[in-house]
Amino acid sequence: MEKLKYNINDIAAYLKDNGIQPSVHRIKIFEYLVKYKSHPTVDEIYSKLFRKIPILSKTTVYNTISLFIKKGIVVGLTIEDNELRYDIKGEAHAHFKCIRCGKLIDVEPNCDLFKKKDVCGNRIIEHHIYFKGICKECLKKIEGGTNGN
Ligand SMILES: [Zn+2]
Ligand SMILES: [Zn+2]
Repeated sequence: MEKLKYNINDIAAYLKDNGIQPSVHRIKIFEYLVKYKSHPTVDEIYSKLFRKIPILSKTTVYNTISLFIKKGIVVGLTIEDNELRYDIKGEAHAHFKCIRCGKLIDVEPNCDLFKKKDVCGNRIIEHHIYFKGICKECLKKIEGGTNGN
C-alpha cells in the first residue's frame, strides 16, 4: 500500500510517481491539501489559490481533484449531503466535524478500528469514520464565558 506522509517535500516527484504530469496548478492544488489538512471543498481551494495562479478556474480545480482521485492520491469525503470535501490519501484516520465552527479535523489515526481487516466476515477496503460534535477550541470558548463570537 502506498503510504503518504503529510510532510512530503517533493510534490512534483510524488505526482510523477503516481503517473501525473506535475503542472504548476496541479502542484499548487496538491500542496494546498498537504499543507493545510483542512479538507477543503473545490470552492475553498479555488478562493485560496486564484490570487497566486491568475489563470486558475474552478473547473481546473475540479478536474485536477478528479484526476487525483482517479490516480488514488486523494479521497472525497461526504459528511454533509451538500458538501463534498477532499483529503489526501495517507494513513487511515477518522474525521471530526464541529457543528459550531464547521471545521473538519483529523482524529485518532491510531484507533484500533483501522487495524481491522474484516468486519463480520466481510473484507474492508476503505474506512470512512467520522464523528460530529463540538471541537476543543469551541468548547474553550463556550466554557470560557459569554463573549465567544
Ligand atoms: Zn469548532
Ligand atoms: Zn483527514
